[in-house]
Amino acid sequence: MPGYICAACGVQHAPSSAPPAECAICLDERQYIPKDGQRWTTLEELSGAGHQCEIRELEPGLTGIGAEPKVAIGQRALLVQTPQGNLLWDCFGFIDDRAIAAVRQRGGLHGIAMSHPHFYGVCVEWSRAFGQAPIYIPLADRDWIMRPDPVVRYWTDSVLPVGELRLIRCGGHFEGSAVLHWPGGAQGRGALLTGDSITVVSDRRFVTFMRSYPNQIPMSGTMVRRIVESVRPYRFDRIYGGWWDSVVDHDGVRAIERSADRYLRWISGAADPASSGP
Ligand SMILES: [Zn+2]
Ligand SMILES: [Zn+2]
Repeated sequence: MPGYICAACGVQHAPSSAPPAECAICLDERQYIPKDGQRWTTLEELSGAGHQCEIRELEPGLTGIGAEPKVAIGQRALLVQTPQGNLLWDCFGFIDDRAIAAVRQRGGLHGIAMSHPHFYGVCVEWSRAFGQAPIYIPLADRDWIMRPDPVVRYWTDSVLPVGELRLIRCGGHFEGSAVLHWPGGAQGRGALLTGDSITVVSDRRFVTFMRSYPNQIPMSGTMVRRIVESVRPYRFDRIYGGWWDSVVDHDGVRAIERSADRYLRWISGAADPASSGP
């Protein structure tokens, strides 16, 4: 039985003889059902349609892996290499032999963790390709697991899945939204891998924080402050968002602080022009 993959969000569901009736991730107010309706696919169908994994070296110890042409919303995964083992950060709706070989060549996989449920992709397939590598999921998001599996390890506020890599639950976009702190990233200056728990925006000196990106639902000041506080103890220079080009190259700590200040100024009304109004 195939594990059907939602064509809109790329999240694989538990194996079933027929496609599921609906995708809870897409029905949620943070996502959407495409205008031509709910559609399902499989890994086999995606390979048949010419999808392949693309591998890019991003910096020493960091490899990006995505699908080309893109699958669903088109995010990519990041393989972080450390002396103690490798972690796959974030996932997407595809895997193939080329990607498996690329990860093996870099020392295999010792854990998988995702920023939030929109990026769960085919994480169980990745785990199986690497000897049932554990998948770290925040307990707060357990109801968003569409393909339950015994390899899932729950965590609460913070955990060290591999070596010095630290998962930090910052909440916001999802209750369990997480980021990964990689102290060895950016040539030792530290990197924060954020998916869209903290989103790098088009002006790559800034990030933003939203409940929904496609539907543009904002989040409260309290939640934004909480997110910023959750990452404040950590040192990092670079921020990797959820897509290939979503990178704050340097000054990441200040980028988050200045983005939060701007966000809070606007939602409080403090930034409104004096002349605005009817
Ligand atoms: Zn979906
Ligand atoms: Zn998302």
